Amino acid sequence: MDGRKMITTDIVIIGGGAAGLMAAAGAGKSGAGAFLMEALDECAKKIHVTGNGRCNLTNLHMEEDCFFTGGKEGVLERLSGFGHRELMAYFEEAGVLLHDRNGYVYPRTDQAAVIARCLVRKAKGRILTGQRVLPSEITFPEAPGAPFLIETKDAAIRCRALVLATGGRCGQSFGCRGDGYGIAEKAGHTVRTAVPALTPLMTDLPYLSIAAGVRAGGAIRLYRSGRLAASAEGEIQLLSDAVSGIPAFQVSREASYAVLNKETCSAVIDFLPELSSEEWEKIRTERLSSAGYSEGSSSPESLFMTGGTVADLTDGLVHPKIASMAARSLGLVDEKKLRNLSKEQKELLPKLLDLLREFPVPVRGTAGFEKAQVTAGGIPLDEINRHFGSEKCPGLFLAGELLDVDGLCGGYNLTWAMCSGYLAGAAAGAFVSGSGKEAL
Ligand SMILES: Cc1cc2nc3c(=O)[nH]c(=O)nc-3n(C[C@H](O)[C@H](O)[C@H](O)COP(=O)(O)OP(=O)(O)OC[C@H]3O[C@@H](n4cnc5c(N)ncnc54)[C@H](O)[C@@H]3O)c2cc1C
Repeated sequence: MDGRKMITTDIVIIGGGAAGLMAAAGAGKSGAGAFLMEALDECAKKIHVTGNGRCNLTNLHMEEDCFFTGGKEGVLERLSGFGHRELMAYFEEAGVLLHDRNGYVYPRTDQAAVIARCLVRKAKGRILTGQRVLPSEITFPEAPGAPFLIETKDAAIRCRALVLATGGRCGQSFGCRGDGYGIAEKAGHTVRTAVPALTPLMTDLPYLSIAAGVRAGGAIRLYRSGRLAASAEGEIQLLSDAVSGIPAFQVSREASYAVLNKETCSAVIDFLPELSSEEWEKIRTERLSSAGYSEGSSSPESLFMTGGTVADLTDGLVHPKIASMAARSLGLVDEKKLRNLSKEQKELLPKLLDLLREFPVPVRGTAGFEKAQVTAGGIPLDEINRHFGSEKCPGLFLAGELLDVDGLCGGYNLTWAMCSGYLAGAAAGAFVSGSGKEAL
């Protein structure tokens, strides 16, 4: 004996985040003994910061196109045994009331900590914290039915099933360094390159700093090698070197893959997406006429006649700082009177208005894993059977962000993590109980 704890148990779960804690719940249902090993000093650290501290747990609108995978595998079919409805019922039965805003589901108290506490409470007594498990510390079974052996500095643990729920690469402070990929590779799995998703788009665009701090409704279209790859609408946040906010997050996975594949990447922002082309054409024509650009602009109330400025041309359409950024990108000065513009400057007025609908932003990449909410890429779903069991190593189960599934903003990533975790834990329980069904 070397002083380490010797433990023999049915199931070991590696990772105490959303997926791992729900795996403990799923395994518990079968009556199997399970230990959860968490790298940090506490479990569920990331859950506390989800949804800006409110935890957007799931969404009442649940469609296949809310998720992305590297292959053609359906995500929702995988969750047919325990999906978002069962997830909500699970928390409500555990005493956590929920409510929704436009379909986005949160705990009734709007406190992410309530969800974290509930998950940890359910797994209490079966958690070992401060236990970062490395690939070199795991011995996989050499023959069917042989145990897994996990040897850390503190303990040597034998188990019949192993659930890997180590998350992706998003946030070292949340314990996510991508360890799970190495463990899965050791078991024979491949890894689709992990890239950051749901993260700001970085740009070197000059003049963006003029609008830094502005939040405005808009739509973003993201192009890879000149082809439209993704689009999203909502509140955009402009920073001095980045475009952030939910629409930027939603399209960012495509920017990550563009960088990975060394493709050119650009975005176009429409700051007035709610206007139809007819409505916009009317406004555009009236403004240009009033500015003295086109014929019939001699009305005494026109911008031209009343001494209006470049800024007045766009006044009331978008945030003045956005208009100013657009004007400066054309070399126009906000304060300059329309009647004092040179012929060349006057020629730029239609372009200034057009920029409000199509503002080009060169994208040099994303803000990376430390600012990303989720990892795209990971272990391909076609290497996992329909009970979240490994096709490479019997007795190994995988769940959560570690797998090659990522979702849109809106509760889809926690839904995937928690539901896949529960199902993987339940299947591991069935595996060790020898029912052979691995099903719920
Ligand atoms: C700021 C932020 C806000 C978010 N908001 C939302 C939201 O509102 N709604 C939503 O649906 N999604 C949200 N997400 C995404 C969501 O939190 C994740 O997709 C989800 O938590 C993934 O769950 P997981 O259990 O697979 O991984 P994680 O939650 O990352 O948990 C993995 C766990 O494994 C542990 N671990 C890692 N390696 C080892 C190892 N070698 N040994 C032992 N333990 C290890 C880690 O310490 C960690 O505790 C947000 C993410 C972030 C960063």
